[in-house]
Amino acid sequence: MQPAAGSSAANEMRLPVLAGDDPFAVADAYRRAALSGATMSAYRTDWSHFADRCAVAAHRPLPADPDVVGAYLAHLGRAGSSASTLGRRLAAINKVHQWAGLPRPGVNPAVTLVMEGFRRSDERPVRRMAPLLLADLTRMLSALDTDSSPQGALGRRDRVLLLFGWALACRRGELTALRITDVTPTAGGLAIRIRRSKTDQRGRGLTKGLPCGRTPLTCPVCAYCDWRRLSDAADRRGRVGVLAALERHATSTDHDHDLPADDDLDADRPVLRGVRAGGHLTGAVTGHAVNLVVKRRLPDDLDPARFGAHSLRAGFITEAARRGATGREIRRQTGQSSDRVVEIYIRENDPLAGNAVTAVGL
Ligand SMILES: [Zn+2]
Repeated sequence: MQPAAGSSAANEMRLPVLAGDDPFAVADAYRRAALSGATMSAYRTDWSHFADRCAVAAHRPLPADPDVVGAYLAHLGRAGSSASTLGRRLAAINKVHQWAGLPRPGVNPAVTLVMEGFRRSDERPVRRMAPLLLADLTRMLSALDTDSSPQGALGRRDRVLLLFGWALACRRGELTALRITDVTPTAGGLAIRIRRSKTDQRGRGLTKGLPCGRTPLTCPVCAYCDWRRLSDAADRRGRVGVLAALERHATSTDHDHDLPADDDLDADRPVLRGVRAGGHLTGAVTGHAVNLVVKRRLPDDLDPARFGAHSLRAGFITEAARRGATGREIRRQTGQSSDRVVEIYIRENDPLAGNAVTAVGL
């Protein structure tokens, strides 16, 4: 292990945040702009964590001795960090070395073997949200009050929230960020533009498809058209509009998809909005609200402590895997970056899906 020159070594390596007139600094700023702000900020936090530990132990952070990096990761693991946290810290260390034109410590066996060994011995119980399966989602949808006045307005918002969240396999931030201009009709359903997701660093967005459901109850297109009619009426005429739209729905039994046009209304309106008692619509729902909707609408035999917003995405993936969808097909909707991630997901949520043990005939 190499001793560092002192704690100033860590400070020297702080990532610069400002670009002046110096062309090198400007070029540096462009390099940094190539990464999204959130990713950059995560790298900075993770790098500072490593650099600070190095400073305390008088080790040089850049270039870091692979043995030091291995010991750092092992220490984190012993202190209770998860494999994904270790992976993230290491990614930041690698990135900073790469920027400095130095070899990445993460490819050195002194580091890769520590990561490998930790993953194998990492048996901490993982607390995750249980997947919400289609049968349970359907029960929740059929229990929603969508017709009485004015509570029906909330029922309809929850219907579109649950169906979109589940069928789009959304992260909750993606769901709350949806604007009505992100939803366009296509043959057989809707195309939904997801603006920015965690795996989409360049912010180009991702388009997901939503097909018509087999019945109006489970049809995301019906749920959306219905909610749009109600929210459009509310924007034009406030509470009175909501009530009129509810009344009209009560007499309608057909399964048509009459998507309202994006006319004179503010096209940048959020799709999912808060509904106050009495039928007033407010701004975009929060991620916290999405979580509560899932918990509150659960059937009585399911434990709200085990379910939340993430159960929608986990439920879609689990259900799709059970019905034989391939990793690639699942990724089309989830936006996950690799089959390996999908595989880990399925293994954790549903150990029997796609597993030979179910086919051996016990
Ligand atoms: Zn429909």
